[in-house]
Amino acid sequence: MSKKYLHIIREVAPGSIAQELELVPGDGVYMVNHQVIEDVFDYQYLINDEEVVLSVIKENGEEWELEIEKDFDEDLGISFESNLMDNYKSCSNKCIFCFIDQLPSGMRDTMYFKDDDSRLSFLQGNYITLTNMKDKDLERIIKYKLAPINISVQSTEPELRCMMLHNRFAGKLMDQLKRLYDGRIEMNAQIVLCKNINDGVHLDRSIEDLSRFMPYMESVSVVPMGFTKYRDGLYHVEPFNCEDAAAVLTQIHHWQEKLLEEYGNRFIYAGDEWYIMAGMEVPEAEAYDGFGQLENGIGMMRLLMDEFREALAAVDGDDRCRHVSIVSGKLASDHIRQLIKELEEKFPNVRADVFCITNKFFGESITVTGLLTGGDIIEQLKGKDLGERLLLPVNMLRSGERVLLDDITVEDIEKALQVPADIIKSNGDDLVLKILGKASGRKGE
Ligand code: SF4
Repeated sequence: MSKKYLHIIREVAPGSIAQELELVPGDGVYMVNHQVIEDVFDYQYLINDEEVVLSVIKENGEEWELEIEKDFDEDLGISFESNLMDNYKSCSNKCIFCFIDQLPSGMRDTMYFKDDDSRLSFLQGNYITLTNMKDKDLERIIKYKLAPINISVQSTEPELRCMMLHNRFAGKLMDQLKRLYDGRIEMNAQIVLCKNINDGVHLDRSIEDLSRFMPYMESVSVVPMGFTKYRDGLYHVEPFNCEDAAAVLTQIHHWQEKLLEEYGNRFIYAGDEWYIMAGMEVPEAEAYDGFGQLENGIGMMRLLMDEFREALAAVDGDDRCRHVSIVSGKLASDHIRQLIKELEEKFPNVRADVFCITNKFFGESITVTGLLTGGDIIEQLKGKDLGERLLLPVNMLRSGERVLLDDITVEDIEKALQVPADIIKSNGDDLVLKILGKASGRKGE
């Protein structure tokens, strides 16, 4: 038995089947029903049974075979040292637009890890290229229904995709998508658009090709390539300007009209950045057909504005006094200022200053709030009148922690700027609530 497939128990839930069987942290599980467990999906698939045989190696080296009778979907109460029960798969590409290749040195090691793992796509929504997947890996996705799965497409033209991903295996994409389509796996796709490379007629071809996989291909997002100031020695790509952004939007809107008429769904969606770059208003909510790729910045601004206005409309204005400051990247700052103006009309003694932070860490062309660092915030807000609270959007923080990208913590910011900080969740209601400081009376109450 390969040690790779020995999964060490980290915790046994009190009162669980595993505790009854005297399993303890440190014991290792390697087979269920005499089948080797590759990862968490094998494990979960196989323990869903009324009779289960668990092969275990105890910490002292003893081998146990446990026969268990249970309800079909009853859990054994075990959590393992690795949530995935396997190492994360890394990518085998060298994409010309890769953001990780454009990171400065000296960041924490995990920032440089290039994952390309279908299991993380299912669990966390990561986009994967499929270039490191064999037929048996696609079969597993279908067998375990790891859906929806998010796929980084860039282009459906084999040669162009191989060039962009710098990987000779990248040209098999259409066959792989067909296999997933035949297996009825729901997919979403992303196209990172690079000027004069996969835009124009290439984008038309990609949209047309991908639309053949509807309805299992549920949506396609188009986002512009991000540029940091650390591109020395990397493939030369020109950034898009505002005229380019307007042209991309015209192209996408044309496809949306066509597909909406044919299939009742727009299918292709432009990232918020395109609208802001082109100086155009973001579309109404209905144009996002349910916000299928919100996490990818598709429709985030529209949703935030609608939620904010709805939350504001639901409360009675009053004369409370409050002064807060809000941190924002350049991209969203004008929209947030507009919303604040509306709030200040209803609450005349509330002042909320929006501070647009320039991203000096990655370079000024990075304008999203989620990539701001603590160092830039401290440097640019030092000595400013920030009022009684500094509001920090949650998307600047490492998931579940109070730490920013450069390892500066919320507490470091509070200390350096001498102001308590509140974290704003990614929704408009919370922004209203955090600005006002306490819940306001609901209308009619
Ligand atoms: S797939 Fe491409 S963009 Fe993603 S991490 Fe790998 S090299 Fe970078």
